[in-house]
Amino acid sequence: MGAPPPPRPGDAVLFDLDGTLLFLPVDVERLRGTLRAFFLDRGVDLAFRPLLPRVDEAVRLVLERRGQAEARAAERWAAGVIARAEVAASAQVLPRRGALAALAALRGREIPVAVVSNNTRSGVEKALAAVGVEPRSLAAVVSREDVPAPKPAPDGVLLALQVLQARGWTGEEGRARRVFLVGDAPADAEAARAAAGIVAGSGISMVSIGLPGGRVTLESLPDAPFDHRLEGEDHLRLWAEAVAGS
Ligand SMILES: [Mg+2]
Repeated sequence: MGAPPPPRPGDAVLFDLDGTLLFLPVDVERLRGTLRAFFLDRGVDLAFRPLLPRVDEAVRLVLERRGQAEARAAERWAAGVIARAEVAASAQVLPRRGALAALAALRGREIPVAVVSNNTRSGVEKALAAVGVEPRSLAAVVSREDVPAPKPAPDGVLLALQVLQARGWTGEEGRARRVFLVGDAPADAEAARAAAGIVAGSGISMVSIGLPGGRVTLESLPDAPFDHRLEGEDHLRLWAEAVAGS
C-alpha cells in the first residue's frame, strides 16, 4: 500500500461527502428509531443497520406482505424522513480539517473535483454551501437520488465520470487518465473498485484513497479495499498540495 501518488494535471478527484469533506451531524440513532417504529407498524422488524440497505429491504418486505400501494407509500415516507434529517443536520455541518484547503489546492491547478455522496441532493447541496463550497463550482455533484444504486455500487462514480467527460475533461495527452476517489468508508473503496473494473481498457484508471477518522471506525477501515491510505489529520491537505511540486 503506502502513500498515494500526488494528483497531477489531467487527473480528476472524486470525494465522498460525509466524513470525508465534512461532518454532517445526522442523528442516526434517532432516525433508526423513527424508521423502526414506522415499519414495525407494518409488520417489519429490522434494526436499520446499515441504514439505507435496510430501508430497501424493509420496503421489499412491505411489498411482499402488504402489496404495492403500501410499499410505495412506505418508500416515499422513508425517503422524506431521511432527506429531512440530512437537511436539518446541514445547519450544524463542520468541514473536515484540511478539506477546504485540499479543494482549493486541486482547483488552483485546474484538477476537476467532484462529489459522490450517498445522501440526498438537497442534503448534499445544503451541506456543501454550509461550509462555503458552491455546489455549482464543482465539476460534478452526484447524490444517491441521481443513480439507480448508492455506493458500494459503482453507479455514482460512473455518473461523475460521465459528467466530467461531458464537460470536456480529457486528461493530459499521452497519459492515462487517473481518477482518485477519496472516502472514509468501505463502501467508497468498493465503489471505486467496481468502477475500475468497468472503465478498465478505456484509458481511465481508478485510485482509491481511504481517509481514517471519518464516520467509520479505524477498526473497520483496514478491511476496506482501498489502494492507499492517508494517515494523520492534515494529510488530505498535504496530499492535495503536493500537486504543486509534482
Ligand atoms: Mg463518508
